Amino acid sequence: MNSELRSDPVTGRTVIIARGRSERPQDFARATTIRSHATCPFCRGNERETPQALAAYAVGGAAGEDDWLVRVIPNKYPALSFDAAPPTSLSDAEYAPTTGAGYGAHEVIIESPRHVTCFSRLDLVETQLALRAYRDRLLVHRDKKSLRYGQIFKNNGADGGATIGHVHSQLIATPFLPREVSAELAGCRRYFESHDRCIYCEMIDRETTLAQRTIAETERFIAFCPFAARFPYETWLLPRRHASQFHALDDIALAELAPLLRSLVAATIAASGQDAYNFLIHTAPFDTSATDHYHWHIELFPRMLEVGGFEWGTGCHINPVPPEDAAPQLRTMAQSFWDRKTS
Ligand SMILES: [Zn+2]
Ligand SMILES: [Zn+2]
Ligand SMILES: [Zn+2]
Repeated sequence: MNSELRSDPVTGRTVIIARGRSERPQDFARATTIRSHATCPFCRGNERETPQALAAYAVGGAAGEDDWLVRVIPNKYPALSFDAAPPTSLSDAEYAPTTGAGYGAHEVIIESPRHVTCFSRLDLVETQLALRAYRDRLLVHRDKKSLRYGQIFKNNGADGGATIGHVHSQLIATPFLPREVSAELAGCRRYFESHDRCIYCEMIDRETTLAQRTIAETERFIAFCPFAARFPYETWLLPRRHASQFHALDDIALAELAPLLRSLVAATIAASGQDAYNFLIHTAPFDTSATDHYHWHIELFPRMLEVGGFEWGTGCHINPVPPEDAAPQLRTMAQSFWDRKTS
């Protein structure tokens, strides 16, 4: 697998050219292989079908190959890998005259040993351990000098981009700062310079006061539909107290986050009526210490609409469900899931 990083000279957008990740035409077809336990490589008992685990979790801590509840493995067809040399000339926003090698990490976090196909069907322990794995893997890669950002993301359902049905998330750690992240950072820095305050903290205050778009709150976390939601039922989940780094969360905070995120995923599925969704964690880059202006968050949205030519051409999304209409529905659905599900 030899991939390559190329930076667009006009926009500074970096792309990963991953030759070989999809060699056969059928790989481009959108179909989730919902395989049964017998043949699923992510099910317990079939560990030999995947690369050796990088980490495994059980209730008491580290786990072996036969008692794991959450298991982290290298992606079999990585977009980036440590086999490549770290790039030297790649910059964020400038024309990179030479391309960089596809240096980085690409890992799969298998979130249950059982063949379940959605995050909302994990039990509470699995959910907590999955979040712990996200944090720990970010910590592992943060200290690698040439890596700048770690993106945790979940693709669920064929329309969400998943190719294996068994519940899992992924981590791609990049040697460059991706454009969406650097745009968020720049916006936060701008607001901080003129208001001396984190814009997300301001948003949390306003949403709490308004109470129109809020979905759920716990002691440490809040979820709401963002004011300028791009997608129907788009949900943001944030820590209520300012924090820029997801990887700084302790186990107690993760234990509180787990049932909330799970109920939000369940609400997303109930509201959208289908199982395709994505969530992603936006957190401070590896080379930034804790900052006052950036605030980590999770973005969650169902994949109900095709992103079409207008959106690609303009970056402007057309959302037929106002966040003020989406939030009350999500609130009711998240609450009823929360009440029903206690383990
Ligand atoms: Zn499976
Ligand atoms: Zn903040
Ligand atoms: Zn974000």
